[in-house]
Amino acid sequence: MDYKKYIKIVENWPKEGIQFKDITPLMDNGKAFKSAVDEIVQFANEKNIDIVVGPEARGFIIGCPVSYALEVGFAPVRKEGKLPREVIKVDYGLEYGKNVLTIHKDAIKPGQRVLITDDLLATGGTIEATIKLVEELGGIVVGCAFLIELTYLDGLKKLDGYDVLTLMKY
Ligand code: IMP
Repeated sequence: MDYKKYIKIVENWPKEGIQFKDITPLMDNGKAFKSAVDEIVQFANEKNIDIVVGPEARGFIIGCPVSYALEVGFAPVRKEGKLPREVIKVDYGLEYGKNVLTIHKDAIKPGQRVLITDDLLATGGTIEATIKLVEELGGIVVGCAFLIELTYLDGLKKLDGYDVLTLMKY
């Protein structure tokens, strides 16, 4: 499917110089959204996934329907101060800013096979931080899936050795 026709490009948002890829028109279209989720499920199917992990907030939008289809759990990665119980955390740089990400300490059991999902791979900082959290808990990252890759930001370099799926490249 040609998913790009469902992505709206917003110039200079949230900051001057950023060309934001808005995925909400894709989510708005039931067939396109299902097709995108199905492609990620297919990518994950042979990998014996135990749990899906996604960073807030758009990683939830992609990851939750995937976890539902795979009949496995979903563990949220959230900004500091959002998860109510004991967490581990990691600092990271973003395409536009700085951040701390956290995950519940008991979200992943050692040896569990993990699929990480997010809407978009930019510099790779978010996914790198998410991988760090998963691996610190003993999880094995067996795949990373995104709707969009911004190839000009070279985020894929941070995913050397990982199995990566991206449905659209800009
Ligand atoms: P990275 O950490 O630089 O790879 O940035 C990826 C993260 O920032 C993802 O969690 C995205 O949701 C968000 N992000 C960065 N740029 C965009 C964009 O153009 N559209 C939607 N999300 C974006």
